[in-house]
Amino acid sequence: MRATKAIIHIDYFKENIRKIRGFTANGVKMCVPVKADAYGHGAVECARAAVECGVDYLAVATVGEGVELRNAGIKAPVLLFSLCSPEEVDDAVSHDITPFVFDCEYVSLFDEAAGRLGKERYPVHLAVDTGMGRIGCRPEDAAGIASMIAGSRNLFQEGTMTHFATSDCKDPDSVAYTEKQFSLFRKAIDSIRREGLEPGICHCANSAATLDLPETHMDMVRPGIIVYGYDAGDVDMKYLAGKGTPIELKPVMTLVTEVSAVRRFKAGSSVGYGRTWKAEADTDIAVLTIGYGDGFVRRFSQAGIKVAINGKEYPVRGRICMDQCMVDLGLDSGVKRWDRAVIFGSREDGALQTAADIADMTGTISYEVTTVLTRRVPREFVGLE
Ligand SMILES: *Cc1c(COP(=O)(O)O)cnc(C)c1O
Repeated sequence: MRATKAIIHIDYFKENIRKIRGFTANGVKMCVPVKADAYGHGAVECARAAVECGVDYLAVATVGEGVELRNAGIKAPVLLFSLCSPEEVDDAVSHDITPFVFDCEYVSLFDEAAGRLGKERYPVHLAVDTGMGRIGCRPEDAAGIASMIAGSRNLFQEGTMTHFATSDCKDPDSVAYTEKQFSLFRKAIDSIRREGLEPGICHCANSAATLDLPETHMDMVRPGIIVYGYDAGDVDMKYLAGKGTPIELKPVMTLVTEVSAVRRFKAGSSVGYGRTWKAEADTDIAVLTIGYGDGFVRRFSQAGIKVAINGKEYPVRGRICMDQCMVDLGLDSGVKRWDRAVIFGSREDGALQTAADIADMTGTISYEVTTVLTRRVPREFVGLE
C-alpha cells in the first residue's frame, strides 16, 4: 500500500455510534448516512460496521452509492437522500433503495417502476421542506402527496422526513428557526393523520439535533458527521459537557503520508510554483508525497497548516502541488527520509490536529476535509473485529 493513506479506525466508528445511541430513547431507530463514500471514510466498510452496531437504516445520496452497498452484500434498508434522475429509477427500485418523494412526478415514476419490477409494496418516504429550501413538498401539500402515495398501486408511505438548516447553530435566530421547522413538520404530520393516513417513521434529527434536541428524535435519528467523530457545529463536546450531557467522539480517520526527501536550502531560496515562499534563513525542507490530487487541496497552501512528524509540527511552505508539497523543518529537526508525516487525525496515530482544526483554519467544515480525499488515497481499515 502507498504510504500516503487514510487510516480508518472502524472500532472508533463503532464506539461513536454506541455513544450516540446513549442519547436516544429505546425504540428510536437510527439511520447512518454513508453518502459520499461515508464522508470519505469508505462506504462499504462503514456500512458493514454500522449494521454490526444494530443501525436500522443506511443512507446514500446517489443510486450508484446504493448499488455499491448492495453489490457488497449489504441487505439493510438504504434511504436515498437526494433525487435521482428518471433514468435511474429502475436501478433504484431493483436494488431496493428507498427514495424520498414529494411530488406527483416522482410518485408516478416510482409507482410505475415498482409495478414493472414486480414489487407490490414498495416503500417511499415523504419529504417535507420545512425551511431547508432543498427537497420536499410544502408543509401544506404534505397530506395531498400522502394521499397520492396511498392511492398509488405499488407504493406505501414507510416514513415522513424533513431536514434542519440551522440545528447546529446556537444563536437565538437559528434556534428559533429550528423550532419553527420542527413545528411545521409536526403540523404536516398531523395533517396526514387527519386524512386518515399513516405517516410511518417520522424523522428529522441530523447530528446536532440528535445530541442537542431530544424532542426532535421522533421515530428515527440521522446522525452523520458525529459518527465519523467530529462536532456538529456549535453543538460541540464543550457545549454538550456544559449542558450536562457529555460525549467524547473520536475522529475515525487519520491522514498520513511520508517524507520522500530532506534537503538543506540556503536563505533566499524559494519553494514551489510561483515562488510564493522564500527561506529567510538556511533551513531544511522536507518533501511530502501528498498534494491536491489526493484531496490535500491547493487552497490549504497559504492557511498556515502544519503537519506532525515525530511528534513535532512543521509548516507547509509554498503552494501545494498536485502530487507533493513541502514543509519547513528548520535546522536540526532530526527528520529523515521515509519518516511518517501525519496531516490530521487521531492522537494515537501521532496527529496533533483533526480534520476539524484544518477546516477552521481554511474556512470550511470537517465534512469537506475528509470527503474530498480522492480515490488515489487508499483507505486502510483498522480496528476490525
Ligand atoms: C447528510 C444528511 C444528514 C446527516 O447530516 P449531518 O450534519 O452529517 O448529521 C441527515 N439527513 C439528511 C437528509 C442528509 O442529507
